[in-house]
Amino acid sequence: MLSDMNNNFPSKVSIIGAARSGLAAASFFVERGSKVFVSDNCTEQKLMASLETKGLSGLEHESGGHTDRVLDCEVLILSPGVPSKLPIIKLAQKAGIPVWSEMELGYQMSKATFLAVTGSTGKSTTASLAGEALKAAGKESAVAGNIGIPVISIVPSLSAEGYVVAEVSSFQLENIDCFRPKAAVILNLMKNHLDRYLSEDDYYNAKKQIARNFNKDNYLILNAKDPKLMAWSKEMVHKTNIIFFGENITGYDSFWCEQDKLCYRFEGSTGNILNFSDMSIKGRHNHENACAASALAKVVGIDDKLIKEGICSFKGLPHRLEFIQSIDGVSWYNDSKSTTAESVAVAVAAFPKGVHLIAGGKDKGCDFAAVKNTIAASVKDIILIGEAAERIEKQWKDLAPVYRCKTLKDAVDMAALKSEPGDYVVFSPGCSSFDMFSSYEERGAIFRQLVMELGNERVGL
Ligand code: ADP
Repeated sequence: MLSDMNNNFPSKVSIIGAARSGLAAASFFVERGSKVFVSDNCTEQKLMASLETKGLSGLEHESGGHTDRVLDCEVLILSPGVPSKLPIIKLAQKAGIPVWSEMELGYQMSKATFLAVTGSTGKSTTASLAGEALKAAGKESAVAGNIGIPVISIVPSLSAEGYVVAEVSSFQLENIDCFRPKAAVILNLMKNHLDRYLSEDDYYNAKKQIARNFNKDNYLILNAKDPKLMAWSKEMVHKTNIIFFGENITGYDSFWCEQDKLCYRFEGSTGNILNFSDMSIKGRHNHENACAASALAKVVGIDDKLIKEGICSFKGLPHRLEFIQSIDGVSWYNDSKSTTAESVAVAVAAFPKGVHLIAGGKDKGCDFAAVKNTIAASVKDIILIGEAAERIEKQWKDLAPVYRCKTLKDAVDMAALKSEPGDYVVFSPGCSSFDMFSSYEERGAIFRQLVMELGNERVGL
């Protein structure tokens, strides 16, 4: 894409939203001599502080809202947190100004090949697994996007031989134009973000935009266990190459789990890539993420052995079923990133039995009743904290003993008291963190700290 843009590089750019992606986009244009205007609805003081962190305090800007000044540009870049429904965006579109997410910008400015991952859960893990496979194969590559590294901050350093594994959110997909990754995974479509979308279908349709420019040179990698994605594949098969993962679908290229093996059929060849027992990260959901990541790696011709090497070397991301330590024969896991009932279910299902589950937090209205069977199969007891504790207790009280605690420290102490050698303590809140913490990262870091302190106390005894 870069060659097209070079003839037409924008000299005047507006950016709405001065968070990570918006600031990265601003720096990119400033370095290339474009005139940049930044607009944010936060206070002047906060906006100045953000601009200063990137040495951009000299930029023309406005705070507290968005005026028509935004429209004096050749392209308008939106940060993912900015709703596309804003009146100023409608005005820009009416005036024929291209409105791009930072993902579209990164794509347009890149020489490298894009591989994309979207879905409701598992995106960061799957993108990281694919990134590890590319790394093991010695490919020039970077994992970026929603995972926390703006795409526009890394694409200038990648050559035409390079790869970007892009974690893409539905918000970024609301404003794409030419975005056409070589291959894209949609991991799953679950109820989510209904605060931003009018209906579930609106949210699913935003995800499906990932393949809007696909043709027979592209690969769409879909979860065979998701009925909505299966139905959509019937339509998309006329347009692009379909690969399924999670199940072996007769007549289609597929990557699936067969007992301990990751098996595949792809472009006329079959094989198995790895034994799941050789992976460091646990749980059936991660085996399925590994299937999707292997499909991405196969599309760009990576050797089975190198895919295995990369995937098996991956130790997992912080706060995603992260092993902290073993204390007196009890293994402690931090899954603070879990903010839905489904995430709690996949976390506890990763263990045979003997799970002391610590859950709860800010109630997002998840359906805790829907995962009762999975919880019942693995947990010994349930320790609840936070605003959602009462509602969760109502749903789960017949499954196992339930204990309510006021603080995370009390919950950790309770789990230590109840656990025996060979058990697992899993902190998988299934709720957002904002009732007691500033983010899931802070919540996970505090849990980790409490478990480390517990370990030190035990050593000291
Ligand atoms: P995302 O980037 O989409 O938020 P992550 O890879 O960070 O996803 O994983 C977040 C949580 O989602 C994990 O801790 C786990 O509980 C759950 N999860 C991960 N992969 C899957 C999957 N394939 N299906 C269902 N849940 C998953």
